[in-house]
Amino acid sequence: MVTAHSILHKFWGYQQFRPLQEDIIASIAAGRDTLALLPTGGGKSVCFQVPAMMQEGLCLVVTPLIALMKDQVENLNKRGIPAFAIYAGMQTRDVEKVLALAREGDIKFLYVSPERLQSKRFQWYCEVLPVRLIAVDEAHCISQWGYDFRPAYRQIATIREHFPSAPILALTATATPKVREDICRQLQLRNPAVFVKSFARANLSYSVVEEEGKPARMKQILDKVPGSAVIYCRNRRQTKEIAALLGAQGISASYYHAGLTSAERTARQEAWINNETRVMVCTNAFGMGIDKPDVRMVIHADVPDSLEAYYQEAGRAGRDEEKAYAVMLYNHRNLEELKARIPLQFPAMEEIRAIYQAVVNYLQVPVGAEGVYYDFDINDFVKRFGVNITLAFSTLRILEQEGVWQLSESVYIPSKVEFATSRDVLFEYEDRQPDLSPLIQALLRTYQGIFDNPVPVFEKQIARIMRVGEEDVAHDLQLLHKQAIIRYYPKKDQPQLCFLEERLPAQHLRVNMVLLEQRKKALEERIAAITAYARNNNQCRTQQLVAYFGEKDAQPCGVCDVCVKKEKGGLQSKEFGRLTTAIMAALNGKISLQALMEKVDAEESRVLETLQFLVAEGFVLRDEDGMLSATA
Ligand code: ADP
Repeated sequence: MVTAHSILHKFWGYQQFRPLQEDIIASIAAGRDTLALLPTGGGKSVCFQVPAMMQEGLCLVVTPLIALMKDQVENLNKRGIPAFAIYAGMQTRDVEKVLALAREGDIKFLYVSPERLQSKRFQWYCEVLPVRLIAVDEAHCISQWGYDFRPAYRQIATIREHFPSAPILALTATATPKVREDICRQLQLRNPAVFVKSFARANLSYSVVEEEGKPARMKQILDKVPGSAVIYCRNRRQTKEIAALLGAQGISASYYHAGLTSAERTARQEAWINNETRVMVCTNAFGMGIDKPDVRMVIHADVPDSLEAYYQEAGRAGRDEEKAYAVMLYNHRNLEELKARIPLQFPAMEEIRAIYQAVVNYLQVPVGAEGVYYDFDINDFVKRFGVNITLAFSTLRILEQEGVWQLSESVYIPSKVEFATSRDVLFEYEDRQPDLSPLIQALLRTYQGIFDNPVPVFEKQIARIMRVGEEDVAHDLQLLHKQAIIRYYPKKDQPQLCFLEERLPAQHLRVNMVLLEQRKKALEERIAAITAYARNNNQCRTQQLVAYFGEKDAQPCGVCDVCVKKEKGGLQSKEFGRLTTAIMAALNGKISLQALMEKVDAEESRVLETLQFLVAEGFVLRDEDGMLSATA
């Protein structure tokens, strides 16, 4: 019989399920809508992959990050499972191929980005796709109360109408009770089963330190706790500076942010994963999809803008269940800055229009353009137009949420070539341009079918075959393109901005300001929550964190800064108890202070301190001559 267990063993080689995985799988296998909250690294994918493998039909997986989507597809393919992905930025023809395969039942898992659900082609295919299960990863993105709202997620519920009998599994690592409710409502889950793994992490010690001299403190912390570490910073410049400072003090450190080329990012990430670099100083662009078990320390050099983000990032420490530390360094100014960002994150209509205008000028988008992709380097944009970067980001996000455009992370799209002439014209051209003939021949020989279809080509490969430089190949391909012999689409490896709607004159741009106002309030609440966390050094950190995620009855963790401080206080109070007993026993009738001191075996100042308390509380009497006695 095919059991969940046998599937797990056969395809993944794992012996047993992790906590809750089996319950979630059983719920899905029984056809019930399910919401599951598992921490990052808790093994969410298995929760939909195993039940999908237990039955016929297709599992549709909605997930927002293209890079992670590709990872998962690769991972499944490695295990011999047919899985494909479609996402924004893919050529229509490729999308069509994948959807056709899916319709034929030749695919087990189809990963789609939420934006794709909106496309007419996809909607049309929905009629014929054999979908038996819908998995929604990062389900908190559907809620405008959450910290990562993505409006395209709202389309998921409409997709469901096509597959009324397929259960939905909504998965997330962080969601407050309010966001959970919103997920169930927005996805129209029917009587959902809800599984929540506790947010408490017994091996992780949280601390918060108010500190002005942060670099020195970081060095001190890293000296105390050996092993792999991550330092999260707010901006790119800081990552570089802090890595250099640590390096100068003999700590092996490197830095990472989204502004580096993908080759640099991969190299640095690998060096850190292989423990060749000890400390990775980074922005929040680092860490997604990385499953390094032995991170001993995560330091936040600044205050993140939500407890959700903090919990996720700090949670990258100690995945191996061994002791690990998460330290947040902050100062008064950081908290002020967080607050000051609120109006930048929710600009007025006029500011939104001005930035929209600047973007279309920057990219030179003609009025009326629609469905067009542009390479978009936001840093270059803000530099050239003198725009505040936070304001630019927020406006991009807001207009993305309004469906005006879509900003996608760096996507690698290989170069493509297709021929644009008849064979006769081509022969004639080769006669006229003998210099370019070898390149044309290399294309025709290396890439089958290139004469009839656009085909991905690799400049490097052609360069190797022709024994020339890669740059020369690219240059000559451009030349052939200009002369209308081929159509050459150079590779892209940059964030893309795609205009989903017709590009409007800025004054016609409309934004739902009421909705924006509500979201601003949600942000204010999130910032208030993390500010309270930073300032509250009286309640166990784990208790504070998990309460935010809805667990009100957690025990003190015993390992955070607050618990450790109380523990020390607790030792003192034990000593206080011992001294009280000793003093009261010594007060047999009236005795002098000196006699008492001789009888009680402890440091004099401690005895005096305790005695003072006992007198003040009326347990001990001191008469006019200074003689001590117990009150009756
Ligand atoms: P999440 O999406 O919750 O962050 P993943 O699904 O990526 O986590 O899983 C994290 C890692 O744990 C993956 O390498 C996965 O293969 C592994 N894993 C999942 N379930 C099990 C299991 N039952 N036993 C051992 N490893 C598992």
